Amino acid sequence: MKLHEYQSKLLFAKNGIPIPRGRVAATAREARDIASELGGRVVIKSQVLVGGRGKAGGIRLAKSPSDAEDLATQVLSMTIKGLPVRKVLVDEAADIHKEIYFGITNDRAARRPVVIASSEGGVEIEEVARTDPDKIVREHIDPALGLRDYEIRNIALAIELPREHWRAFEKIAHGLYNTYTQTDATLAEINPLVITGDKRLVALDGKIVLDDNALYRHLDLAEMRDLDEESAQETEARKYGLSYVKLDGEIGCMVNGAGLAMGTMDIVKLFGGAPANFLDIGGGAQADKVTAALRIILSDPKVRAVLINIFGGITRCDEVARGIIAALAELKTHVPMVVRLVGTNEAEGRRLLADANLITAASLADAAQKAVAAAQRAG
Ligand code: GDP
Ligand code: MN
Repeated sequence: MKLHEYQSKLLFAKNGIPIPRGRVAATAREARDIASELGGRVVIKSQVLVGGRGKAGGIRLAKSPSDAEDLATQVLSMTIKGLPVRKVLVDEAADIHKEIYFGITNDRAARRPVVIASSEGGVEIEEVARTDPDKIVREHIDPALGLRDYEIRNIALAIELPREHWRAFEKIAHGLYNTYTQTDATLAEINPLVITGDKRLVALDGKIVLDDNALYRHLDLAEMRDLDEESAQETEARKYGLSYVKLDGEIGCMVNGAGLAMGTMDIVKLFGGAPANFLDIGGGAQADKVTAALRIILSDPKVRAVLINIFGGITRCDEVARGIIAALAELKTHVPMVVRLVGTNEAEGRRLLADANLITAASLADAAQKAVAAAQRAG
């Protein structure tokens, strides 16, 4: 789950990281009032859960409260990468002397957190990573020991941060690491961390991604979820406890088990198709869950065929088949369905499905080929 910039920055501030003064506004009028409070010169920052807002024109510098109102009107009418802007953060404008990149994320291969920093922060950081990778420094952290002062100094040295800023940088580094660990984040990022004209370090932007699997122990953070930023499909999937990730292909996949779902997507690709989604319906196969899963898959207009791949272990295949048939009776779709069922009572399950005019398959390879062919015929 991603947090908005303003939410991330409030968490930073709680952990002692300096942030600009500012507040969120939902209307241009409010933006004007906040700008007056802050003395006129402000930045109007779209609050949408995507990167690259600056380049998209969603970050604007205002010189006066009335300018702030005009720019907020413009920004609040924008759609950035498909997401409508509903709120803006109105922050006191900073006098930027230098932009630094500073983030912490998980390095799964190393099995530890990694601090990433660069003297070349700002909106071109991806470009820097491509063209000038030496400008990006990394320091792995032993989670049992936490972030050590000497590691912070290593980073400061490597990004050639002037000595006068080291003390402030150390505090910010500890603040960022604490934010990262305490919230069970998978990413905590400040880009840019700026050196201001009056020689202070300030976090101008903030991005935190929380680990959904740890949200149960952060109910206060879970409440920060912005339902407006989620697709209807994602909200629905969460309601039914389905893991759903939308992709770009034309073959909808409904699978029980995350590993099997990954395998199914691979096989679809192998036979020349492209998965429209990852969807793990989890254990059991209650009809309501199957119905919700199919409804989500079929709400994607690109889906030309659906591949259902179920391994019946504890759940019996005939029960799963009944669940699918009940779901289809409710959904009434013409999208071809290919079903592969294996496990307990599979013969009975297959007979029920065949009677209901579904395409059955004996093996996963067979199912994937049938789904790809059905999608091609339908497309
Ligand atoms: P992003 O594009 O979504 O990463 O949004 P950021 O919050 O990082 O803003 C993008 C860029 O806008 C920053 O890298 C800065 O160059 C600029 N910017 C943001 N806030 C201010 C500010 O207060 N003053 C000035 N002069 N520039 C700002
Ligand atoms: Mn940024």
